[in-house]
Amino acid sequence: MSIRLENVSYRYLEDTPMETEALSNVSLEIKDGEFVGIIGPTGSGKSTLIQHFNGLLLPSSGKVWVDGVDLTHKDTQLRKIRQKVGMVFQYPEHQLFGETVLEDVGFGPQNGGLSQEEVVERVRRALAYVGLDFEELKDQSPFELSGGQKRRVAIAGVLAMEPSVLILDEPTAGLDPKGREEILDEIRALHKERGITVILVSHSMEDVARLVDRLIVMHQGRVALDGTPVEVFRQAETLKELGLGVPQVTELMHELKAKGLAVNTDILTVEEAEEEIVRVMGGQK
Ligand code: ADP
Ligand code: MG
Repeated sequence: MSIRLENVSYRYLEDTPMETEALSNVSLEIKDGEFVGIIGPTGSGKSTLIQHFNGLLLPSSGKVWVDGVDLTHKDTQLRKIRQKVGMVFQYPEHQLFGETVLEDVGFGPQNGGLSQEEVVERVRRALAYVGLDFEELKDQSPFELSGGQKRRVAIAGVLAMEPSVLILDEPTAGLDPKGREEILDEIRALHKERGITVILVSHSMEDVARLVDRLIVMHQGRVALDGTPVEVFRQAETLKELGLGVPQVTELMHELKAKGLAVNTDILTVEEAEEEIVRVMGGQK
């Protein structure tokens, strides 16, 4: 499934004294199967942008197409689009409501008119994707789970709709390092195994650097940079001006280079850094 925006601007509270232009002339295309990261300072328009990808917000001006369907056209059934483009909001556990995990995760498929058997199967699969056991949790109240488990159940509720595109707004916010790592691994596996398009909004340079194929940097409602993580993190100066950094390990490689070590600075992970440092040291570990 592809998503295309052309000259999209969005204004909150339009025609009031409080009007804010949250997006300004954004044009971009996300292709089927891509794994895209979106980063940018707070207030740069990330959340506003992603809500245009499934028609939760419609542009004040400009156009949005999902698989060629014009979302701004009055006859477009946005409900159908939202089934295919799944959205996990920030702190999605705040929206849990079911008495049991089964009821909560199964809500979407149930509403879509699937049989009870199919709903159960969907829930079982969705929970497995986020590393949770159906038999253990199905009858439990989602409110009695741990923070990390609640987050996963909420994500499973979106996965149970079997979307072709999965959008996640800061899915690891507020989790401990282990919980973050696990959720990101599961998202990576979903992209790899099911081939779905994933759009990940993140604060963490480290996370996006090692996960995504493409990185979009937002600044003041505009796309400031768009490229592979290596291409984007090469623009260390620009990122600094935008109030963003590069992954710590990339920063370290820049410092080593400044100290006269002939290292390649296109390094995004600790593993790559180790290999590169060993290489320039002549292979002595
Ligand atoms: P980000 O997700 O990058 O932090 P947002 O898309 O939430 O950015 O916000 C972009 C701009 O729109 C900010 O200036 C923010 O204050 C404003 N904004 C966001 N949501 C609303 C809203 N519901 N009403 C009015 N202004 C909003
Ligand atoms: Mg946001």
